[in-house]
Amino acid sequence: MRVFTDSRCLGHQAPPGYPERPQRLAGILAHLRAAGLPVIDLDPAQAAAAGPDEPASAGGSAGGSPAGRAPSAPSAAPVASAPTAPSAPSVAFAASVASVASAPSAAPPGDPLDPPDFPELAAITALHSAAYVRRFERAASRGDAILDSADNPLSPGVWPAARAAVAATLAATDWVAAGSDRIAFAAVRPPGHHAEAATAMGFCFWNNVAIAAEHLRRRHGAARVAIFDFDVHHGNGTQHLFEARPDVFYASTHQYPFYPGTGAADEAGSGAGLGATLNVPLPAGTGDDGYAEAIGERVLPALRRFAPDVLLLSAGFDAWRADPLGGMAVTEAGFTQWGRWLRQLAAETAGGRVLAVLEGGYDLESLPRLVAAHLQGLAGG
Ligand SMILES: [Zn+2]
Repeated sequence: MRVFTDSRCLGHQAPPGYPERPQRLAGILAHLRAAGLPVIDLDPAQAAAAGPDEPASAGGSAGGSPAGRAPSAPSAAPVASAPTAPSAPSVAFAASVASVASAPSAAPPGDPLDPPDFPELAAITALHSAAYVRRFERAASRGDAILDSADNPLSPGVWPAARAAVAATLAATDWVAAGSDRIAFAAVRPPGHHAEAATAMGFCFWNNVAIAAEHLRRRHGAARVAIFDFDVHHGNGTQHLFEARPDVFYASTHQYPFYPGTGAADEAGSGAGLGATLNVPLPAGTGDDGYAEAIGERVLPALRRFAPDVLLLSAGFDAWRADPLGGMAVTEAGFTQWGRWLRQLAAETAGGRVLAVLEGGYDLESLPRLVAAHLQGLAGG
C-alpha cells in the first residue's frame, strides 16, 4: 500500500462556505502519516523542505525507501525500476513506462499549454478537449471567479492544484501497473468524477480517475479497466467519458434522486459499451445493510464478470452517515468492509491491482479516519 499525493493540491482555496476545501486533504494526509503509511509527496518543494529533517532524503539519496520523495514527473515514479507483473496472466504491462511527456502536443509555440514541464498534459487531453484545457488555464490566469458553474470557483492555486492532482494520480497508476498485488491511494484534490470532457462541474475540473483508466489502456497495455465509484454522488463525467466503450467498465452506487441527476438504473451504456455501465441508485438513508446488498449482489458480481486487469475506485466518503452533503447512513465499519470485498475481488480478477482515487467526503472531523478505515480494509486488515 502506497499513498501518492502532491502538496500543491492543497493550494486551491475556494471562497468561504465551499465544502471542498484544503483541510479535507490536509487532515487525511496527517492522519495517514501518523498511522505510518508511506506517503509519497510529488511536490519538489516539499521534498526540499523535508531534507534537513529526514536523513533518508539528505544528500540526494531519497530514492530507496518507500517514503522517499518521488520527482514530479509521473514517468519517474518508483514504477520505473519495478519489474513487470510476474503473475499477471492476461496483460503484458510495460516494464518501462512510456512517458506522457513524450507525446506530441498540438499547442502552438509559446502557448501556455505547451511548457516543457507539463508532462501530464497528454494524459489529460486523451479525454478532455484541448480547447477546454486552454479555457481553464486562461480563466485561472485571468483570475476569473468561476469556471462553467458556481460549483467550480477558481483561486490562484487552482491550476497547479488540478495539474498536481492528475500528476499524483498518474504516478500512483504507474506504480500499481508495474507489478501485481499493488494497492495505492491517490490522495488528491480537486476531485474529478463530475468533470465532463469539456465542462467543469461539481468541484471537479479534470476527471482524475478517468484519466488513470485511459492511461492504463494507452500506456500500460491494460485490455480492461473497471471503475467502481462509491461516492454518494453519481459520477456523471466518468460515465459519459466511457459509456460507449466496452473496455472501461463503470459501476456506481449513489444516492438517487440526487445531484447531479444522472445515474438511473436504466443507464447501462450505449453502442459497443452497452452493458459496461452499471448504475445502482439507492434511496436516501441507505446504510451498511443496503449498501452490502447493492455491492454484494450487484456490483461485485458485475466486476467479477468483467474481470478487469486493474480495479480503480472513485473513493468518495460522503455516503458517511454524518456527511454534510450526503444523505446516507454508512458507518466507518462499512467503508472498511467495502475495502475488504474490493481487495478480494481484485485478488481474484485483477492481479491484486487496486488504485483508489479520492473524490468527495466533507465531514472534516471524520473524513481522515474514514479514509484510513477503507484503506485498512483494502490492505487486508
Ligand atoms: Zn460526492
